[in-house]
Amino acid sequence: METLSHQPRRPLWLCRDCSADWPCGPARLALLREHADDLTWLRVYLAGLMHEALRDLIRLNPHTPPAPAEIWSRFLAWAAPPTAHHPEHI
Ligand SMILES: [Zn+2]
Repeated sequence: METLSHQPRRPLWLCRDCSADWPCGPARLALLREHADDLTWLRVYLAGLMHEALRDLIRLNPHTPPAPAEIWSRFLAWAAPPTAHHPEHI
């Protein structure tokens, strides 16, 4: 049950194991490994989590909300298809 490690501590969205911003490195690796055969599903799942995290973080830090680019690279950029890293080329 390796997926039970490196889970987010909500609403702070910090890793329960290593206290890094979630998803931390080990969490990303586990998610990619677990959903390697359906990365589209993983991206949809991550997009949902990104919205939840954004809502929580804005509520916690109304004066210094996370930047959209920061949230994007934290939750989605690392799992996005290669072309999505350069949206200006689409
Ligand atoms: Zn972690």
